[in-house]
Amino acid sequence: MSHFSYKNGALCAENVPLADIARQFGTPAYVYSKAALLENYAAYADTCKLHGPEKSPALVCFAVKSNSNLAVLNLLARQGAGFDIVSGGELQRVLAAGGDPKKVIFSGVGKTADDIRLALTHGILCFNVESEAELHHLNEIAGKMGQPAPISFRVNPDVDAKTHPYISTGLQENKFGIPFPDVLACYRKAAMLPNIRVLGIDCHIGSQLLDDKPLLDALDKMIDLVDRLNHEGYNLQHLDIGGGLGIAYNNEQPVKVQDYVQRLYAKVNHWRLHKYQGRPIKIIFEPGRSIVGNAGLLLTEVQYLKPTPTKNFAVVDAAMNDLMRPALYDAWHRVQPVKESGARKLVWDVVGPVCETGDWLAHDRELALSQGDLLAVMSAGAYGMTMASNYNSRPRVAEVMVDGDRVHLIRKREQVADLFALESLLP
Ligand SMILES: *Cc1c(COP(=O)(O)O)cnc(C)c1O
Repeated sequence: MSHFSYKNGALCAENVPLADIARQFGTPAYVYSKAALLENYAAYADTCKLHGPEKSPALVCFAVKSNSNLAVLNLLARQGAGFDIVSGGELQRVLAAGGDPKKVIFSGVGKTADDIRLALTHGILCFNVESEAELHHLNEIAGKMGQPAPISFRVNPDVDAKTHPYISTGLQENKFGIPFPDVLACYRKAAMLPNIRVLGIDCHIGSQLLDDKPLLDALDKMIDLVDRLNHEGYNLQHLDIGGGLGIAYNNEQPVKVQDYVQRLYAKVNHWRLHKYQGRPIKIIFEPGRSIVGNAGLLLTEVQYLKPTPTKNFAVVDAAMNDLMRPALYDAWHRVQPVKESGARKLVWDVVGPVCETGDWLAHDRELALSQGDLLAVMSAGAYGMTMASNYNSRPRVAEVMVDGDRVHLIRKREQVADLFALESLLP
């Protein structure tokens, strides 16, 4: 069920008309539905409980880079979520939001010494190591701190995720992960290092996957590795399958989370029983978009209508700096009027005020528009606010979360003075 729907012609977030939110908090604004977030998280957690072994419960680590607002992180932490981070900054957000560092996994190809020290200090669950150089760096820092570093290798399983090239990460030509043929050698090297504790194995093959076949293919290859490592005496405690499930932006039909998790456990359970001698192994997921993407929208107001001989432009107050996905990935977001209207529709390009031709939010949409109308750019909960910038000295927008009849401001709109507060003039 969608938590954004029309009631008496007015588009609402749960029970609150978006027009009320615009009046109270201004535009542009990101609007999230708490019920949608909880529902999407539960799709993972509840299905894991249903099909996973009791003795080694799964861990759902929300990918913080998809939406790092403290209220979002706190809400998920309270449900028992772990977190997948890619920087020390994200770890500090998780801690500030009340997340448990023992449920944090740290991904990324370029972890800095400061990031690593911070993560070791807080005793995170696991580093997902992406290169041999990183392994040695980690060993050295862990040695100096007298605190061994728990690791998985991020394997590049060389499967084609069949998604946008910018968000595909599991093919051999990508910068991510350890090439499949080198994985065993890396584990052997890790075993020789005094300050490294081998804990698990990891992969993440890409994002916005509509089909789970590439994920299940990757799982087969990972299981095969776990078996081979087991023969060499490594007893891995977890298998991290990454994130990447897609959402419907338009009329795509992504696999249901429940179906994917069920199929994954069917494979894992069969293998554990018949080949792995029933040993426990924890499954870790790293979903971002599939939890938060369709739980948020970007609310914006039409500033000017600008018909031209070739195209009609609707200039709105949100722009590429607020929602970068169209400019960056050529992404398609549904645009819905906040008030349903029977007026005649025209074809519009919805564009922002930023001085770039790439500053568009939607092309060729049939809408009945007047100046001052409110529009909702849908499916903007993931990689929306986290990718926002201050380009053109535009303050980042407010974020609110709706819970039934209530609206909570979860991030104030920035003030222009905030933007240059850290700058100084020459003497
Ligand atoms: C981005 C990322 C994720 C989350 O991907 P989604 O497509 O949002 O589910 C998970 N793991 C890693 C390592 C990532 O980089």
